[in-house]
Amino acid sequence: MKKRIDKLTSMLNEHQVDVAIISEKNNIRYYSGFTSEDAVLLIHRSACYCYLITDFRYIEQAHMQCRDFNVVDAPGIKTGPFIKETCMALNAKRIWFDSDAISFRTYTSYKEALHPLELIPDRGIPSRLRLWKTEDEINHIRNAASLADKGFLHILGYIRPGVSEREIALELEFFLRRNGSDGLAFPIIVASGKNGSLPHAEPTDKKIAEGELITLDFGCRISGYCSDMTRTVALGEPDKEMREIYEITLKSQQLALEVIGPGLTGIEVDNQAREYITAKGYGQYFGHGLGHGVGLNVHEAPRLSINGENVLEPGMVVSVEPGIYLPGRGGVRIEDLVVITEDGYDNLVSSRKDLIVL
Ligand code: ZN
Ligand code: ZN
Repeated sequence: MKKRIDKLTSMLNEHQVDVAIISEKNNIRYYSGFTSEDAVLLIHRSACYCYLITDFRYIEQAHMQCRDFNVVDAPGIKTGPFIKETCMALNAKRIWFDSDAISFRTYTSYKEALHPLELIPDRGIPSRLRLWKTEDEINHIRNAASLADKGFLHILGYIRPGVSEREIALELEFFLRRNGSDGLAFPIIVASGKNGSLPHAEPTDKKIAEGELITLDFGCRISGYCSDMTRTVALGEPDKEMREIYEITLKSQQLALEVIGPGLTGIEVDNQAREYITAKGYGQYFGHGLGHGVGLNVHEAPRLSINGENVLEPGMVVSVEPGIYLPGRGGVRIEDLVVITEDGYDNLVSSRKDLIVL
């Protein structure tokens, strides 16, 4: 934590800002170790004054988790006045607030309470450190991904004609939680048959039938870190068109994995998969980016997409997930999670990818 605060304070100095106010949940966890909501961090550019402001419910927990911070009980309407008083005492005039995270209402109340201090939007800069994962962070993600692999194997034995999407999602969640996942990275997606054309389908009471493809997209959460994987399987032999889009999706993912590594932009990797799908005539049916960063948030920077200007560097963790979605007919997505290394990448997902016909 200390190293992270040092890096943040050097960014404050670089931008000639005196104090950072941090209220986004995962940034709070990243910089302080605090795992609950309802807190605000105040970090001075000297790194000598770090406060975690919360309320009665979390004081004891904050004392245990946040050794580098002074814990302050100043909830709700007392937060603004405490920040102002502290900034005045430290002679701090320019204050960063997390413009990407707070509501307009909170911003307005800060503006009133902190007058005449200067509130400056931080433009997401404190989150940028989270782009590069440390070995510990990668290990949490690796553990989450490998538990998800086990969940996939488990759920294959559960899928049969007549079982509903909702039942599959529930069984999978139960397995993951019972085997050590703190929670889900996001609500599990189970999309069968025609529902497969909805990239973010919610599981329904629809029962799985012979000949359908089933897309399962899910992730675990371990020590706050997420995993994310997708596999599409078939129950009985699928029709020719579904098998064809499966093979095209798989090949496009392989092409992206052949090139992915340090030095490439998200645009270049996305393009590698997108060009192939487009050449096969399905470009308009691959309507989302190829991948996204994964860490404390399941969707974070960097992006692999037509807008993904970030250059990939060792330590970044990204999903690689091409998909083809045919409205009214069905769809396929295949998603792995990779960590960028010095000489390429390490795939954290090991479940097989040839089409499994149950
Ligand atoms: Zn996913
Ligand atoms: Zn994903």
